Amino acid sequence: MKKHNFSAGPCILPQEVLKQASDAILNFNDDNLSLIEISHRSKPFVEVMEKAQNLVKELLELPEGYSVLFLQGGASTQFLMTAYNLMKTDGKAAYLDTGTWSSKALKEAKLFGDVDIIASSKDKGYNYIPKNYTVPSDADYLHLTSNNTIYGTQLKEFPKTEGLLVCDMSSDIFSRKMDFSQFDLIYAGAQKNMGPAGATLVIVKDEILGKTGRQIPSMLDYKIHIDKDSMFNTPPVFAVYVSMLTLQWLKDNGGIEAIEKINEQKAALLYAEIDSNPAFVGFAAKEDRSSMNVTFNLTDQSNQEKFDKLWNEAGINGLKGHRSVGGYRASMYNALPLESVQVLVDVMKQI
Ligand SMILES: *Cc1c(COP(=O)(O)O)cnc(C)c1O
Repeated sequence: MKKHNFSAGPCILPQEVLKQASDAILNFNDDNLSLIEISHRSKPFVEVMEKAQNLVKELLELPEGYSVLFLQGGASTQFLMTAYNLMKTDGKAAYLDTGTWSSKALKEAKLFGDVDIIASSKDKGYNYIPKNYTVPSDADYLHLTSNNTIYGTQLKEFPKTEGLLVCDMSSDIFSRKMDFSQFDLIYAGAQKNMGPAGATLVIVKDEILGKTGRQIPSMLDYKIHIDKDSMFNTPPVFAVYVSMLTLQWLKDNGGIEAIEKINEQKAALLYAEIDSNPAFVGFAAKEDRSSMNVTFNLTDQSNQEKFDKLWNEAGINGLKGHRSVGGYRASMYNALPLESVQVLVDVMKQI
């Protein structure tokens, strides 16, 4: 039987997507060739890339003027690419520090100019989202992390800014409806909510590029990737293909609006158990709780052996918390069914 996969990333993908992907590895498009042994410039693959890009635009309801790229190097490469492409030579960028990923992003930005950490929740181990901060009007951009995968906190509101708005949405893109056109640049590693590792989605407003006065190496230059339709060099064909299939699966199942309802049900079910069962305590501040990654711990560590045994026996995978937080983390990305959360809750009730 398939396990209930709560892995934080790489994460669960829809079973039918995995089936289609494995078929395409052996025989893609009934052409008796594998998807991964044909040219990325062949018509069948160019169509895959275009379809993936169009699905992103359609699902996020992006207006004209945005380009969609599938790059390599993970979200971690975007930490430096965003700064390289958007920070002026004598510029400044503002960062909201909400956890490990934000800190890693701002560390890279410091290589390119002034970084203003406008607020940080480090004082409380990143268990909340700072509010009431001001964004300096002379910042070239503000960088946010919409969902803090490790701590289980999530931004529910996004500030209005004069400068550009950049967001790392690696672990909650396509999980909830919002006005995506408020962002000038969005990036996300595929392996959290979209596909396998190897592709990084970048959505960028064309008009913001080419304004820094910097020379940018070709592979790190968004403009070059846009001009080459995301095929400046060999794209990660398998990761793009599986991402396309997952996006198609999402569209066929009612798109973001429909999946958001299920994601809310999953989160409500698990948080209700954490809050009502004295054996457990949540990590994140209630108003900032993530619907994707739920972090919690046992109130009495002597229950650990029993709990670990029970969830393992119930066929649950990937519940261990991140090494920097400890405890448990249930990641409930789009492809995780509500039934899996019920299995976890039933186990928790036995503690
Ligand atoms: C996982 C993660 C990253 C790092 O992604 P890579 O693709 O492994 O580089 C960055 N930001 C967030 C929010 C993440 O969850």
